[in-house]
Amino acid sequence: FDLQNDDFTNLQELGQGNGGSVMKVQHVPTGTIMAKKIVLIDAKPAERKKILLELQIMHDCDSPYIISSYGAYLAEPNICICMEFMDKGSFDGIYKRIGAIEIKVVGKVAVAVLEGLRYLYDVHRIIHRDIKPSNILCNSSGDIKLCDFGVSGELVNSIANTFVGTSIYMSPERIQGATYSVKSDIWSLGITLIELTVGQFPFSGSFSDDEDSDLEPNGINGDGETTPSHRDSLQVPAPTDAASKRRSRRRSKGVSLHGGGMTMSIIELMHQIVNEPSPRLPSGKFGREAEEFINGCLEKDLDARRTPAQLFDYAWILYSRQNGVDMKAWAATF
Ligand code: ADP
Ligand code: MG
Repeated sequence: FDLQNDDFTNLQELGQGNGGSVMKVQHVPTGTIMAKKIVLIDAKPAERKKILLELQIMHDCDSPYIISSYGAYLAEPNICICMEFMDKGSFDGIYKRIGAIEIKVVGKVAVAVLEGLRYLYDVHRIIHRDIKPSNILCNSSGDIKLCDFGVSGELVNSIANTFVGTSIYMSPERIQGATYSVKSDIWSLGITLIELTVGQFPFSGSFSDDEDSDLEPNGINGDGETTPSHRDSLQVPAPTDAASKRRSRRRSKGVSLHGGGMTMSIIELMHQIVNEPSPRLPSGKFGREAEEFINGCLEKDLDARRTPAQLFDYAWILYSRQNGVDMKAWAATF
């Protein structure tokens, strides 16, 4: 693919995160439907070249558990990353639509994420760095794939948003400034699996007064109406339809950076992650094997936390691989 901006028709906005926005697009010359991530970067030409070079790793990925990439190109001042479109969206959207996800399906998610992490690490020596429900995607074939992995340190450095790299799925050691390891991804996996299973982000923090506990983790950057300067810096388009206006208004309530509310919440949440006992699945409800697996992911002590290799041997994973769930049939239910 020789990708350039003129060759795309925008079909639909898929969502916004704190790095940019994602559009469903059609690549007109080939007719291919893609997801196009647009990231506003603040980088010198040499750095831009380096980013594109680093993104090449994405193109070299070939795994059923990793989103495939069509390539990336510069469209000043943005960088556009074109990837496989996943028609069932991400798992945050899925559980918000259909409610808490049955444990057998969550088991399939756990297997897919572990496989994806193993592939990225064993084959490309990269750590994902941003495991969360919105970076785990599903399609109508029932495939589960990871996106948005940390291929490009240079890109992260150049994103014009100070909150990039801050996530409510961050492990205690990372909050405390430790260097990243695969085990930090495992923490994020544990939090993610509880969220999907119970249908709610497991730390209450001061998020609990949010009107509908729709936590919108990707709203932590505060792209609400009260933060116009911030939105400008992200080049996030102003909401157009009624639904997104509503969403934006809701976000701005607890999520405003400059209004102070959310900044405080993030700090409180980080404090809670570091100081409170790890979240757990409610005991006895979803099976001992699932509980044991998630407890292995959420050990606060890095030495006690399991490695991906160890987690592959857990009973829940062995069982989930062949638990008889037809993911294609499941994906057809919503
Ligand atoms: P975040 O992951 O923090 O939500 P992103 O900008 O990475 O922010 O993505 C925004 C949304 O776009 C995601 O929540 C996801 O639902 C959707 N999305 C991202 N990539 C794809 C894709 N390849 N196919 C379909 N939907 C996608
Ligand atoms: Mg993402």
